[in-house]
Amino acid sequence: MLDLKQHPHRRYNPLIREWVLVSPHRTQRPWQGQVESAHAANVPEYDPECYLCPGNSRAGGVRNPPYDATFVFENDFAALKPATPREKLEQGGLIVAHGEPGLCRVLCFSPKHNLTIPNMERRDVRRVVDLWAGQYAELGAMPFIRHVQIFENRGAMMGASNPHPHCQVWANASVPNEPAKEQASLDEYRAARGSCLLCDYTTLELQLRERIVCENESFVVVVPFWAVWPFETLLIARRHVTAMDALDERERDDLAGALQDITRRYDKLFAVSFPYSMGFHQRPTDGAPHEECHLHAHYHPPLLRSATVRKFLVGYELLSMPQRDITPESAAERLRG
Ligand SMILES: [Zn+2]
Ligand SMILES: [Zn+2]
Ligand SMILES: [Zn+2]
Repeated sequence: MLDLKQHPHRRYNPLIREWVLVSPHRTQRPWQGQVESAHAANVPEYDPECYLCPGNSRAGGVRNPPYDATFVFENDFAALKPATPREKLEQGGLIVAHGEPGLCRVLCFSPKHNLTIPNMERRDVRRVVDLWAGQYAELGAMPFIRHVQIFENRGAMMGASNPHPHCQVWANASVPNEPAKEQASLDEYRAARGSCLLCDYTTLELQLRERIVCENESFVVVVPFWAVWPFETLLIARRHVTAMDALDERERDDLAGALQDITRRYDKLFAVSFPYSMGFHQRPTDGAPHEECHLHAHYHPPLLRSATVRKFLVGYELLSMPQRDITPESAAERLRG
């Protein structure tokens, strides 16, 4: 009998139709959760050197306004530019390039340099949710924008060079790889079964209760059965909504609550401001209803056993498939605790 707590096995990710290798036997040893409180650097509320703080100047001499809530600006080093020609270059079907118009914006969550989502007031996180919904609608309404990616990199380990609480929005003319893979799976699932993959998955997880981390009336946070990162989670809307613009007042409040709940759990896990990359997946903005899409967010934190031990995707994982030792079930148990 295959025992998921003992035997090496592959788990299927139905969202992207790829597999992850799980090797639970490698973690039979008792938990060695030494908490090395990597000394929380004393971050000031205002940093005169920070290009995101109110009133400071950015690249090219632009000065930030003295904002007192949230603040949005076009990235000074944008990876995408709106005026890019949508031309296609192709040689023998093997050397292929498409011009990609788009926009990159930076969204500051708060004027305070040292605040993070888990430490903000609930009403201020709600303001961030409203800002996201507004940016999604505004950028998605531009005729050449077909996808809006909202994402946050937190911590130097994830390449965030600045601790000031902020995220980015990249909006572009085509749907990028990961959401495109998911959208194809969601679409096929819906065509084959007449229901939504993420609605069905959430119902199943709520019955099993083994991988649920936290929940409120509108959102559920789960360590997905197919998680690759040690403490990876999926934040899923309970109601079938295709994007943030469909959330009602109550759901927006609950989204703010769910974001604080999961990030507080992360921070407590190793007693450190937990690094991660997180981002939302929602309906492409090409004008089609995309009933197959279901609003959710992915958290990909790199930490493994302590504040200083991180997981890398290297070797076998880079060349063959992702692999993990600690099971998603035990990760969920630790996050619940
Ligand atoms: Zn700052
Ligand atoms: Zn759904
Ligand atoms: Zn997704």
